[in-house]
Amino acid sequence: VNYTKDEIRQIVKDENVQFLRLMFTDIGGIIKNVEVPVNQLEKVLNNKIMFDGSSIDGFVRIEESDMYLYPELDTWMIFPWGSEHGKVARLICRIYNTDGTPFMGDPRNNLIRVLDEMREAGFTDFNIGPEPEFFLFKLDDKGQPTLNLNDKGSYFDLAPVDLGENCRRDIVLEMENMGFEVEASHHEVAPGQHEIDFKYSNALAAADKIQTFKLIVKTVARKHGLHATFMPKPLDGINGSGMHMNMSLFHDKGNAFFDEKGEMQLSDDAYHFLAGLLSHARGLTAIANPTVNSYKRLVPGFEAPVYVAWSGKNRSPLVRIPASRGLSTRLELRSVDPTANPYLVIAAMLEAGLDGVRQKAEPQPAVDRNIYRMNDDEREANHIIDLPSTLHTALKVLQGDEVLKSSLGPHLYQSFLESKRLEWASYRQVVSQWERDQYLELY
Ligand code: ADP
Ligand code: GLU
Ligand code: MG
Ligand code: MG
Repeated sequence: VNYTKDEIRQIVKDENVQFLRLMFTDIGGIIKNVEVPVNQLEKVLNNKIMFDGSSIDGFVRIEESDMYLYPELDTWMIFPWGSEHGKVARLICRIYNTDGTPFMGDPRNNLIRVLDEMREAGFTDFNIGPEPEFFLFKLDDKGQPTLNLNDKGSYFDLAPVDLGENCRRDIVLEMENMGFEVEASHHEVAPGQHEIDFKYSNALAAADKIQTFKLIVKTVARKHGLHATFMPKPLDGINGSGMHMNMSLFHDKGNAFFDEKGEMQLSDDAYHFLAGLLSHARGLTAIANPTVNSYKRLVPGFEAPVYVAWSGKNRSPLVRIPASRGLSTRLELRSVDPTANPYLVIAAMLEAGLDGVRQKAEPQPAVDRNIYRMNDDEREANHIIDLPSTLHTALKVLQGDEVLKSSLGPHLYQSFLESKRLEWASYRQVVSQWERDQYLELY
């Protein structure tokens, strides 16, 4: 809803809102917020709230640390789980410099920039429908997460096996209270694993929704004595959690990927966009799978992609084209996991696809066979290459991809690279139990 300042003033009175949470997202995809009491409402509405940017990962250095929060009024929302002392509302904000220019280290500002480029290329919307998956673990008596799953259920199982069902149902209800249109929610393949799909929206709204969704899931799970995690591979030997991204470009006449007369009823732009996604798929991995743990998910045998390929039939490849046509003609990118910063990964997918459109690139042939049963020679003959297998390699590939670097812009690219290199450097120092099990006695 597009609220005016006056409407918000009125709602604050009518609903007894006592606290305002001003939210934004750091480079690691973590939601940050500054909470102010309602007596600050006028300052909030007039873009006068300041905070110290030097304390936020990937923002600025101490000497230039003052930043302003500009709330986006259409993101106004009252949390359904208010405190006894009055309700809590939130606004998602853009970050501005003291000189009144948008701060380009803010992932949301960057996505807005890339969407402007898309409009210049003749499209009106980039629509995104995410499929986030997560695990529910039990909490111990001290309220700390354990590694005990809360059920033994599997794909589409029903209660009583699926003990997550009550919690998931509450999550869905809270989502609906907060304006989400939930399309499906079900138990996933692994025990304790769930998926909730909500209706697609334009890129900016979809990224905001992903952030709000994670907050709702974690908050409701706590109330059920559970810990919800979006970590991509919390347990080895069972499936990890992905966040498949369904995407489509729209123009004034509707879905630009649909063409009744096209091959498979897909338009030329759909094929060009697909070709762009595939040719930047390796560089995109660092952004779509930005943690050390992300790469423990991208292994054969657990329904997560390992190779760069696409198909209109098969579910296993990196990009799938779901069967529906017309308005819901879309590409599904299956590598993305829920640790990806939604603003960054959506900007990167869009820039990769638009590069294909600009170059009029053609995709490699579809692979409708099971890629995991091919040997190396067969894969080579079919032009199928691997996704990077560690964060380290993924960062190297990103460094060589100018299109993806420009999708982040210089500030975000630098701070992303720096923070991820530190993460890798810290991981390298650790000796794991697997290594001791393998080598301690053998050598
Ligand atoms: P799957 O085929 O992988 O099971 P789901 O039905 O679980 O897919 O999820 C479909 C997702 O795709 C939903 O979020 C839906 O809103 C979204 N979607 C539908 N049409 C479009 C479109 N034109 N552009 C982007 N996303 C879309
Ligand atoms: N959990 C799988 C993954 O890691 C996806 C399962 C599915 O197809 O929904 O991507
Ligand atoms: Mg799924
Ligand atoms: Mg899917």
